[in-house]
Amino acid sequence: MAQLMKNLGYYAGKIDLIENMTVPMTDRVCWFGDGVYEATATRNGVIYCLDEHVDRFFNSASMIYIDLPFTKYELKTLLCDLVSKVDVSETNNEAFLYWQITRAANVPRNHVFPDNAKPNLWVTVTPRKLADVYRSAKLITHEDIRFFMCNIKTLCLLPSVLASEKAKKAGAEECILYRKEADGIKNRVTEGSHTNVHCIKNGKLYTAPLDNLILPGIARRNLIKTCRKLGIPVVEEPFSLEFLMGADEVMVTSSSNPCVAATHIDDIAVGGRSGDILKKIRDELWNHYLTYTNK
Ligand code: PLP
Repeated sequence: MAQLMKNLGYYAGKIDLIENMTVPMTDRVCWFGDGVYEATATRNGVIYCLDEHVDRFFNSASMIYIDLPFTKYELKTLLCDLVSKVDVSETNNEAFLYWQITRAANVPRNHVFPDNAKPNLWVTVTPRKLADVYRSAKLITHEDIRFFMCNIKTLCLLPSVLASEKAKKAGAEECILYRKEADGIKNRVTEGSHTNVHCIKNGKLYTAPLDNLILPGIARRNLIKTCRKLGIPVVEEPFSLEFLMGADEVMVTSSSNPCVAATHIDDIAVGGRSGDILKKIRDELWNHYLTYTNK
């Protein structure tokens, strides 16, 4: 059996340790952020919610007119193969899998698409345990200054980077974004800089509807499915920051952080009033992850 790697980087067919990889500076992602990406957890060599991530990846790529040079099946097979090459013995058999496609490399810098663009697939596999589903954290807020294509998992992430850095500087974990006015709602909560935002109020789950202002998160989808399974009503409607501040629980979700509960938003104590429902949801989410990845 080939020796396992301590981590793995893949670029357009080349495989090496991430720290040894170099990519052409002409890759259009360097000039324009011209590509889309995905990320999820793996355990026991099983990629969590692989079908959902691959479907969203194909969707994101098609929305920016990248013709993927492989089928969904071929991509899934390659990703599973790459995951199997990495030593995860020190992380409870868990790893973090990231991949992206960029439109082309080795072409002159020019805004328009190059003729016969040959997209490049990038993959990294990093041993890492999934974050504890029972975590809590402080959050902050910032106006959502991103564009109107937030449903595409694009690599143009500068506003999210700035919002994340603002959160870090404030000693918080994540930044909740809001549009000053959207859908007739003042201070409409959209999502986090790298999470979806939800709350529980009077026994119901509230989460923003799927539109061009948020990413259709896979963890959001898992949360909704979990609530429906538990008989918790789900309301997919826009809500304001003020509504969020007064909710019984506030949560942010992502594939790396399945259900972080907020203790504070902008240093004001929030949530903590529906711990029984929150626990049921988290137990179910955790069980789903363990069962799904139990080879
Ligand atoms: N919203 C944004 C802006 C994100 O960047 C992410 C994850 O990176 C999410 C939501 C959560 O998506 P998922 O649950 O698919 O990880």
